[in-house]
Amino acid sequence: MRVFADYHTHTVYSHGKNTVEENVVAAINANLKKIAISEHASSHLLYGVRGTRLFALKKEIDALKNKYAGRIEILMGLECNMTAYGECDAPKDKETRALFDVLLLGYHRCVFPRDAYMMKSLFEAFNVSKGDSVIHAKSILEAAEKYKINILSHPGEYVKQDMDTLSKGARELGVLLELNNRHLTMSDEDILCAAKNGAHLVVGSDAHASHEIGEYKNSLNAIARLGVSEFVDNIEH
Ligand SMILES: [Zn+2]
Ligand SMILES: [Zn+2]
Repeated sequence: MRVFADYHTHTVYSHGKNTVEENVVAAINANLKKIAISEHASSHLLYGVRGTRLFALKKEIDALKNKYAGRIEILMGLECNMTAYGECDAPKDKETRALFDVLLLGYHRCVFPRDAYMMKSLFEAFNVSKGDSVIHAKSILEAAEKYKINILSHPGEYVKQDMDTLSKGARELGVLLELNNRHLTMSDEDILCAAKNGAHLVVGSDAHASHEIGEYKNSLNAIARLGVSEFVDNIEH
């Protein structure tokens, strides 16, 4: 069982330790066929990449696409942040959306909440009721549908989301649930629930240093242990 694509890596443009090119070279050395650079979107107060820096990143990625053509496919991704109920900071105009090959979306801290719902959700980390976790799942699904998100990053991290609701919605939308190797937020029970509901999964390193690219042990162990490989879209046998 081998991962052939990693859609979730960070670089020095946010809080990663390595450059875009160092991530690309690490991906080639790890025999990946595809790598995405998926920096934090603009609303992240500490690490959001916005404005001219975003265009500089795009330019750098385009140059590397040429340099490494035939060796690896390089994608421009963006890890968007939930900002309000059913809302996130994914690009809203066509021109900016067209910069990106893949969009991830997750709940994150250090994001300015745009409504009372978001304010409350970010501070209620403990003892979230079943009802509230269903609401959180519906909120992110609504945003995922609106902004044509491809992957929900680290589901359940920071804000608890009911997995039955989340995975049924993800299957309907064709959105992938990430088995984040850095922090595997989906429990065995969550993974089995997602598979039972027919949702598809994707392994992501969430690498903040290039040596983490190609390292998927936590996710692959869970996939093997639970026998859910048929639901994982970026592995081959
Ligand atoms: Zn994240
Ligand atoms: Zn990330």
